[in-house]
Amino acid sequence: ARKFIVGGNWKCNGTAEEVKKIVTMLNEAEVPSEDVVEVVVSPPFVFLTLVKNLLRSDFHIAAQNCWVRKGGAFTGEVSAEMLVNLGVPWVILGHSERRALLNESNEFVGDKVAYALSQGLKVIACVGETLEQRESGSTVAVVAAQTKAIAEKTSNWDNVVLAYEPVWAIGTGKVASPAQAQEVHFELRKWLKDNVGAEVAASTRIMYGGSVNGGNCKELASQPDVDGFLVGGASLKPEFIDIIKSAT
Ligand code: 13P
Repeated sequence: ARKFIVGGNWKCNGTAEEVKKIVTMLNEAEVPSEDVVEVVVSPPFVFLTLVKNLLRSDFHIAAQNCWVRKGGAFTGEVSAEMLVNLGVPWVILGHSERRALLNESNEFVGDKVAYALSQGLKVIACVGETLEQRESGSTVAVVAAQTKAIAEKTSNWDNVVLAYEPVWAIGTGKVASPAQAQEVHFELRKWLKDNVGAEVAASTRIMYGGSVNGGNCKELASQPDVDGFLVGGASLKPEFIDIIKSAT
């Protein structure tokens, strides 16, 4: 069975004071045990240590990005080795905001995933189509190509979680319907089965992300191939707790 996983992607938000308030809210919440749901919160780099020091021990932290290879003369970048050194176990890679705004290609994301895994990080790898791609009927081809670029460089999937995040659903309030999410999750799992192997397909968790909130999470969570959520806006609010609870 795939353990439910809920991630909070805080994106480029927050002051130290606001971050402390969110952590207090998380620390006081009553949620199902770690055996039932894995919770990962992803603050901006500069707040990782602050959050790590204050956050309850059954919740974990993720960086929102890291450099594609070993660190060195790459001004402004943060390496996978540094995250490991800091005790950060997870990293989110290939988020659509970085693909679109920072021109991260499928190949570049594939390289990042492979390097982060090689350093011992666990990876949440994001895929998803734009509205234009969906309307032209290429959703499955787009997410398959994104997944292929990762699969080509990844031999061990134990530390990989996929996040299906349709771009048109991110920050728009237009959540994918449970049937739309299930369809793409099913296709992604089928792609893994046909191209990587049946065991990896059965065990790899696929999170859904895009306008998930306290009201729509329960029905999405009930879909057979939806194994968790990657939450943006709502992860900064008390309803994040309701989303965590949708695991049960
Ligand atoms: P929203 O939940 O704000 O739509 O963002 C989703 C997302 O991009 C999570 O990575």
